[in-house]
Amino acid sequence: MPTSAPNVLQSRAWHVSIGRLLLLVGSALAIGIASGHIAIALIVVFAGYSVWSLYSLLRVQRWLLARARLPPPSDMGVWSEDAEFIYRRHQTGRYQQRRLVRLLRAYREAAAVLPDGVVVLSALRQIVWFNESAARLLGLDGQHHRGLIIDRLVTNPQILAWLAQARANDPLIDVPSPSIADIRMSMRLIPYAQDQWLLVVRDVSTLLKLEQVRRDFVANVSHELRTPLTVLYGYLDLIDSENDPELSGMVCEMRKQSTRMAQIVDDLLTLSRLDAQANTDDESIAMDAMLASLRRDAEALSQQQHDIRVDTTSVHGIRGSANDLHSAFANLVANAVRYTPPGGKIVVRWFDEDDGSCFEVEDSGCGIPKEHLPRISERFYRVSTSRSRDKGGTGLGLSIVKHVLGLHQARLEIRSEVGTGSIFSAHFPHARLIDGTEHESA
Ligand code: ADP
Repeated sequence: MPTSAPNVLQSRAWHVSIGRLLLLVGSALAIGIASGHIAIALIVVFAGYSVWSLYSLLRVQRWLLARARLPPPSDMGVWSEDAEFIYRRHQTGRYQQRRLVRLLRAYREAAAVLPDGVVVLSALRQIVWFNESAARLLGLDGQHHRGLIIDRLVTNPQILAWLAQARANDPLIDVPSPSIADIRMSMRLIPYAQDQWLLVVRDVSTLLKLEQVRRDFVANVSHELRTPLTVLYGYLDLIDSENDPELSGMVCEMRKQSTRMAQIVDDLLTLSRLDAQANTDDESIAMDAMLASLRRDAEALSQQQHDIRVDTTSVHGIRGSANDLHSAFANLVANAVRYTPPGGKIVVRWFDEDDGSCFEVEDSGCGIPKEHLPRISERFYRVSTSRSRDKGGTGLGLSIVKHVLGLHQARLEIRSEVGTGSIFSAHFPHARLIDGTEHESA
């Protein structure tokens, strides 16, 4: 509804007013000539016209002060058209304002009933607005908490530390709700507009419970499978098949498969244990002894088919779980042996870098196609299932490696090129390292 400014030259009000004035002046002149008092007649007419104009202006002002909601009064001389223009502008403004308010209300109503809690925070992190779910999950109430700085309301130190960092794309997963016992929440801060934040809070209790059920199920199944497997394996050992070539082949295959199954069960149990752990042991681990033991494992597996080297330049040891780290490193070394054809080269390194130290296994094996790299450490993910099985793999090795490293705040980096080989690097932060002179065990 655009409104255009009135053009004075085409203005009807101006034409009428000037016509009216000319008529009055003409009448005054006629009366003045007839009565012989032209000047008095003209003065009376001009004075009357001025009073009427002032009165019209007064009406316009009154109408404006009444917020120009009603249509302007009629016949206000030259002011009529201006008043009409102001009125139209005002009406358009009010129409757009009403539309905006309706739209805003619709958005708020939609946000209010979202199952996720949403809190709008100002640049100073004051609570500007929040929906019903946020009120429920965070224990907020409109009367007391609107306008308050969110950090002052939170008592949970984990949430406080997270809010202090205020990093987008770094959600806080699994914190207790301050208002409802048994509810676990995930929180995410999303920046928007200029220095404004959206705090999104989600009830993840059911999700976490399901995750726990899944973990318990895997742990229980693995545990339950262990005993029958041991029994089967024991009986297989008792079968004397040496004189029967057909039976001997079958027993040999059964032994191979039951060993593989036992390995899968062991790996699943290890993963379940690591999953349930929030922290790791605090042993002082000597890397010399660890590397020597890894070399022995690799040589036993390789059976002199590979050129295996160990290259140590760091004097640091690691603070953590010796067993878990040994099993993670041994997995990387075993993979290098398994996926490198005979005659290939394997180098195990332990060296310092800018922000810590690095355990690295490089091989000249088959390599991993790029598209598999992002998912390679997922449980049971294999580039080639048949090749992994042939090599005696369970598909759980790298998953264990990732879990163990995570518990030690270390990061796994994988570089690989098909046909050239792979490099698996475990980067340990300074906080996890110990001096070579400290008491060490392996
Ligand atoms: P697996 O027991 O099958 O070896 P892992 O979790 O240890 O399971 O490894 C997952 C997959 O990653 C393997 O199946 C294999 O395809 C690939 N892989 C792991 N290490 C290497 C390596 N050094 N060279 C080539 N491929 C590798």
